[in-house]
Order: sequence, then C-alpha cells, then structure tokens
Amino acid sequence: MGTALVTGASAGLGLEFAWQLATARHDVVLVARDEGRLTRLAGQLEAAAGVRAEVLPADLTDHADVARVADRLRSDERPVGLLVNNAGLGLNQGFVDGDVAAEERALELMVRTVMVLSHAAAGAMTARGRGAILNVGSVAGLTATGTYAAHKAWVRVFTEALARELKGTGVTATVVAPGFTHTEFHERGRIDTGHYPAAAWLDAEDVVAAALADVRRGAVLSTPSLRYKAVSALLRVAPRSAVRAFGGYRRPLEDAPATDA
Ligand code: NAP
Repeated sequence: MGTALVTGASAGLGLEFAWQLATARHDVVLVARDEGRLTRLAGQLEAAAGVRAEVLPADLTDHADVARVADRLRSDERPVGLLVNNAGLGLNQGFVDGDVAAEERALELMVRTVMVLSHAAAGAMTARGRGAILNVGSVAGLTATGTYAAHKAWVRVFTEALARELKGTGVTATVVAPGFTHTEFHERGRIDTGHYPAAAWLDAEDVVAAALADVRRGAVLSTPSLRYKAVSALLRVAPRSAVRAFGGYRRPLEDAPATDA
C-alpha cells in the first residue's frame, strides 16, 4: 500500500490507524486540525517505527484545506496508496431545535470531504493501477439516530458504489462500521455514555486491526467484532419501525452545546 494518508490522525481511531500502519512499515501523512498533536505523533512514529511521517494540518470543513489534502492525494511524489477517511464527530443535538451551522460543518466533514478526497484518491490510484480507500462509517448508519446516522448511511452506500465502480482497476474501497469505541468521540461531543453497558464497548486497537485486515483482503464491508456483526445483521432484517424505536438523541452532558463542531 506504500504511503497511507489518515484524516483525523490526532486522536482516537485515526491515531491508532497511524500507529498500526507505521508499525507495518508504511510511511504516513497525518491530517487533522491540531498541528501540535500531529507533529508530536510524527516524531514518535519516525523514532519508533523508522518510517517517514508527514504532517498536513487541515480543517476538513474548509474547502481550501480539503483541496490541499486532495492535491497531496494526487501528487506523484511519494504516492499515497491508502486513503483512510476517518475524521468525524458527534453533534448530539436535536435537528429541529439544533444549530444548523453545526449541522452544515458535520455534513461537510463526514460527507463532502469523504467524497472529495475519495475522488482525488481514486483518480490517482486507478491511473497507477493500485491502491485502497478506507472510509470510516458506523453501525449507527443502519439506525435512524439523527443526522449522524444519515451521514454514516451515506458513507456506506457511497463506498459500496465506489467499490463496484472500481472493480477490475486494482483499487479497492472498504467501509468500516465500528460500534461504540473508546476514543475522544463521546467526550468531545458531550455525549452521556453512562447508560451504555460495558459489553457495548470496543477498543480502538481491535477496531483498527480488523479494518486493516479487511482492507488487505479487499473486503467492501467491514464490521469489527462478533457482537457488532450480530447487531448489524439484526438491524438489516428488523422492520424499520422497530429500528426507528431504538436509540436516538440524548441531551448533552450538563445540557451544554457541543464545543467541537
Ligand atoms: P475522536 O477520538 O474524537 O477523533 C476525531 C478525529 O477527527 C480527531 O483526530 C480530530 O482531530 C479529527 N477532526 C474532527 N474535526 C475535524 C475537522 N474539522 N478537520 C480535521 N479533522 C477533524 O473520534 P473517533 O472515535 O476516533 O472518530 C473517528 C471516526 O470514527 C469518526 O468518523 C467517527 O464518526 C467514527 N466512529 C466512532 C465511533 C466511536 O464510538 N468512537 C463509533 C463509530 C464510528 P482535530 O481535533 O485535531 O482536528
């Protein structure tokens, strides 16, 4: 796969993708907003794994920043062989009384950016006849739990369509659908997780290892853990009225707006 470009590499699943890819001897391009965190990570990866780690700070809700990342994906200098579209966030607000500007930023980050970067990567990779695109969806994409579920449903369907179009080109597209995973996601989104059972939680290390194994074998759909494979199978066959009755928006912790949208 050569060089891997990971969005949202400063924390959570993206940080874990960066570590596992570097440990597997891939050079990495690290993308997120927090340049300090990315620079520290790049130093650690270079020292520990002996790979080259580039830092590419970008706000992926900003069209000019997204265009710079797309340019890096098209570059023939140290060509990117794996794109991991991972950056994302939870808004945890109701839609009707929520802030529509925050909704627009979430849509930009988890839908438009995924589309634009996939387009840049797919074009460059098909010209070279090899490469892989990994988009991070969610089990939530099978539910009806707010605009987040809609964004992740889009990521799944988009990736399946892309995989179909890429067949025979040497380039693959995979969508990974994690369940609840220990990262900074819930704290940043001020999402109350107190009522989630311990058994619902996955470790980032396991989610990333499963996703990368599925990318290596060219799978289109990746659902880490038996638990969430079972949950997903159930969500696929259940009547939508039953799916709609399950889960949904809960008031943010301390009823404060999410700070990081
Ligand atoms: P996290 O720990 O909060 O990390 C989110 C990452 O996204 C950070 O590196 C953050 O970096 C980056 N990011 C956020 N907004 C950005 C922006 N505007 N521009 C560039 N980068 C931005 O969350 P996570 O759980 O690892 O989430 C990774 C992906 O997994 C997301 O797509 C999420 O929807 C998905 N997911 C998570 C779970 C879960 O339970 N954790 C479950 C299913 C799916 P900066 O702040 O430095 O920009």
